[in-house]
Amino acid sequence: MNNELIKALKEIETPFYFYDINLLNETLSVVKEAAEKRNFHVHYAYKANYNDVLLQTIKKFGFGADCVSGNEIKKAIEIGVAASKITFAGVGKTEKEIIFALNNEIFAFNVESIEELIVIGELAAKLQLKANIALRINPNVDAQTHHYITTGLDENKFGILPSNIQTCISLVKSNPFLELQGIHFHIGSQILEMNVFKSLCVKVNEWNTWFEERGIYLKTINVGGGLGVDYKNPDTNAITDFETYFAIFEKFLEVRPNQEVHFELGRSLVAQCGSLITSVQYVKSGIKKRFAIVDAGMTELIRPALYQAYHKIEKLSTQALSTSMMYDVVGPICESSDTFAKEIELPELSRGDYLAIRSAGAYGEVMASRYNLRDAIKSYFKMDSTPILATGW
Ligand SMILES: *Cc1c(COP(=O)(O)O)cnc(C)c1O
Repeated sequence: MNNELIKALKEIETPFYFYDINLLNETLSVVKEAAEKRNFHVHYAYKANYNDVLLQTIKKFGFGADCVSGNEIKKAIEIGVAASKITFAGVGKTEKEIIFALNNEIFAFNVESIEELIVIGELAAKLQLKANIALRINPNVDAQTHHYITTGLDENKFGILPSNIQTCISLVKSNPFLELQGIHFHIGSQILEMNVFKSLCVKVNEWNTWFEERGIYLKTINVGGGLGVDYKNPDTNAITDFETYFAIFEKFLEVRPNQEVHFELGRSLVAQCGSLITSVQYVKSGIKKRFAIVDAGMTELIRPALYQAYHKIEKLSTQALSTSMMYDVVGPICESSDTFAKEIELPELSRGDYLAIRSAGAYGEVMASRYNLRDAIKSYFKMDSTPILATGW
């Protein structure tokens, strides 16, 4: 992609997001095949990236939508996702958002607290509309990932504590406008240790049995998302091992007849198809360091500043690569945390050189901000049927 991309770069301003839609298509085919043969249902987590071109592509594969705001539900409907494939999660659903979801008769509310369940129940009764409820249970499984993206421990704000589940059941039973459809789990993000998913299966099985023993039939088991990607090797490992991932659930989940298994994958579908393209403004020598100051910053990609996340950085060059040197790659924003990488080896850089910050398709563009009154970030796409850099459909 390098040569073509560099030629096209001459005509556009950096920084921008570059999405390889061909890779996205390949990734989605692999997911679809691995999920369908096991009869698993996949919802794409919109919050990972709601760029229209990506959403259109994902929708074509028939995946549902996992939304965490009323606006995401609205977006999913606009993109053409059937309401019967839309789930709504989040700890702070507002009345306006709940009403919007009720009116659109979405597939399920993933409920995160007793308090929220009461409000959904009241609004559903008032509007005389049925709300399908999936209780998000906090399974207390350690995702073994960064503490900011761990969500399934007792100390996190997400999910309902096991001791409160009985109360939730009583609430649902007492309100004809609430229907208990299933249970929901989501334990964290960027999980690469497959044993974590095995532990999750064990917990889910316990809960499945627990409900069964109380005579409650659960139609859906939603195990959330969280599957990680290889940030170190975006080329050799461009598509996550979905086969192994789904096989774990197939092997360890004890699914009852007619029970549906749902997944909510975000990062693993879109991370590798996106890069943030930036150009070197200045190469500045410090006392012990050399800084490559680029025109993208934490305003375009906040993950390194927010979670010390690693993103591979490459020089885009048509020439044979020259001797390499050590650089800190930093942005222009007035914050010391505005650093993409420290002490990394790159071919010698000079003003005007282009860099690709890889694996930036998830939690990149969607977290962009206008801090420092930055320009809104643009995106370009590579697709089979178009020139290398298309601005959209
Ligand atoms: C963020 C989120 C997801 C997606 O997580 P990934 O790590 O991107 O796969 C799924 N479900 C819920 C409830 C979420 O909040």
